[in-house]
Amino acid sequence: MERGGVYIHIPFCSSRCGYCHFATSVSNEQEPYVEALLREIEEVSQSSAIRGLTFDTIYFGGGTPSLLRPDLLARVVDALHANFTIEGHSEFTIEANPEAVGGAARHAPFYASIGVNRISIGVQSAVPAELTALDRSHDAREIRETVAGIREHVPNINLDFIIGIPGQRSIDRSLELISELSPDHVSLYILEIFPGTQLSHLPPPDDEIVERLYFQACDFLRGCGFVHYEICNFARPGRECVHNRKYWNGAPYVGLGLSACSLYAGSRFQNTSSFAAYIHDPAKSRAAERLDDDTRARESIFLALRTAEGLDAASFFRRHGFDPSTRFQGEWDDLIGLGLIVKQGDHYRIPERRMLVGNEVFGRFV
Ligand code: SF4
Repeated sequence: MERGGVYIHIPFCSSRCGYCHFATSVSNEQEPYVEALLREIEEVSQSSAIRGLTFDTIYFGGGTPSLLRPDLLARVVDALHANFTIEGHSEFTIEANPEAVGGAARHAPFYASIGVNRISIGVQSAVPAELTALDRSHDAREIRETVAGIREHVPNINLDFIIGIPGQRSIDRSLELISELSPDHVSLYILEIFPGTQLSHLPPPDDEIVERLYFQACDFLRGCGFVHYEICNFARPGRECVHNRKYWNGAPYVGLGLSACSLYAGSRFQNTSSFAAYIHDPAKSRAAERLDDDTRARESIFLALRTAEGLDAASFFRRHGFDPSTRFQGEWDDLIGLGLIVKQGDHYRIPERRMLVGNEVFGRFV
């Protein structure tokens, strides 16, 4: 039976970064938020679709989940186990920021005691000027201390980095830091500047620089033994993020908390981004959308194409009941002709050197 994932959004941050477009709060109203989260967990778990699911991943994202008080975190984890069927050896990830060094590193023994077995750290860059441009207050010393403190208790570590930071011309120092810290997983995101964020007055990142830095990083990480398994994600063999793979493989997931999204039983559910509306009544703040077969099929295709493995026509057939080669033949022919897709046996995939123009491919299916 296909297993699902649980995502819990913890919106608290110590300050708001200039590029941030996530649902965050600097209010630190942790208790009312967790009370609402507990109500939502109970309410969502009553649905027969959820009762029929087994979960093998838990992911606390944000925001900065490592800012959540340990007693409140423990209450949420207890509620998840009491209300959902969660397997014993599930992957359990929590996101942390290096500036929360007191938090993430000091709380690492507690995290391990409640089952956390993977920590994702928002490093973003090893260069002080780039961190300043991103409004991040940590430095390389805090990054090293955070990683060392966590690793003693939770050995599976991901480091997040960003490419396309204003003023960025080189990625050498960040790659040196990766080599030194030797994480299990690296996520390399391209900075997107969203309207309404503080950075929106700046020109978008230079495509040529982004491309050069991205492919330098791909080559470097491969040389260090990482597998490039998704556009933005690199893992040591066997350390791929089980939770994030569910999004790309079309597996069911339940998102709880502010602005969280769920996908199960053929429907998508979207929680409000209003903190006040969420803590007032999480159930009423959620919008549901029934997905028709065509939408689900198209989403399956473009999500699978984000991965290095690509779209497996046989497993697509099992899920959707038709062969993607025949229904979308015109799209495939065009994309193969443009060199944006290669077909090998039953698999369609984007070659690594074209991954940065993946949006051109995805646009054919949305
Ligand atoms: S730490 Fe992350 S979630 Fe929080 S404000 Fe900065 S970018 Fe947004």
